[in-house]
Amino acid sequence: MPFYGYYFDPTYILVIIGAAICLIASARVKSTFHKYDRVRSMSGMTGAQAAERILHSAGIYDVQVRHISGDLTDHYDPRNKTLSLSDSTYSSASVAAVGVAAHECGHAIQHQRNYAPLSVRSAIVPLANFGSFAAWPLIVIGLFITSSTGTLLINIGIICFSLAVLFQLVTLPVEFNASSRAVRILGETGILGEEELRGTRKVLKAAALTYVAGAASAILQLLRLLILTGGRRDD
Ligand SMILES: [Zn+2]
Repeated sequence: MPFYGYYFDPTYILVIIGAAICLIASARVKSTFHKYDRVRSMSGMTGAQAAERILHSAGIYDVQVRHISGDLTDHYDPRNKTLSLSDSTYSSASVAAVGVAAHECGHAIQHQRNYAPLSVRSAIVPLANFGSFAAWPLIVIGLFITSSTGTLLINIGIICFSLAVLFQLVTLPVEFNASSRAVRILGETGILGEEELRGTRKVLKAAALTYVAGAASAILQLLRLLILTGGRRDD
């Protein structure tokens, strides 16, 4: 619990709520993934094989599918066009693994088709990184300066923090769209059957909720910041 001098900051509860939401969402995606990781797909295709198949069916031949270590560390990197699948996805033929691999292919397809929210998201990455790095130092320094310079620093700090929040919000349509592409392509290509897709949808929905939780937590932190700095006057 943070204490500033002898004063307990009640707005810290917003940070705790945000962290709790994120923890619950992350536990849920893990348990849903492991539940459907026990359901082997009829086609017997592994995550890596499904990814190759999906990319080729979308006319994409310049994306490299590779194996990375870790649990649910799967991602697509548009900078070097690599689709990285984790231990639990790469060589598993479960409906969960194939679903996650297809979701990452969804990002590769977004990239190839210049899907606008993905371009916006990539463009604001450096701003968001700078924003989350600079926000708190600016605000803390601003709080120590009683003149209008202090208020200016606080306001710049809040704008910096808002950039990081904006990034989380732009991530949402990108993630939802990648999952809906994944489910559609898995059905169209026949990699998964209708019954199998039911499990895949649950896994991808749980994964999407972690991004919603992240965005909600960021908004709560911004709200806290506004409450903490809101009462300031430059008299
Ligand atoms: Zn994603």
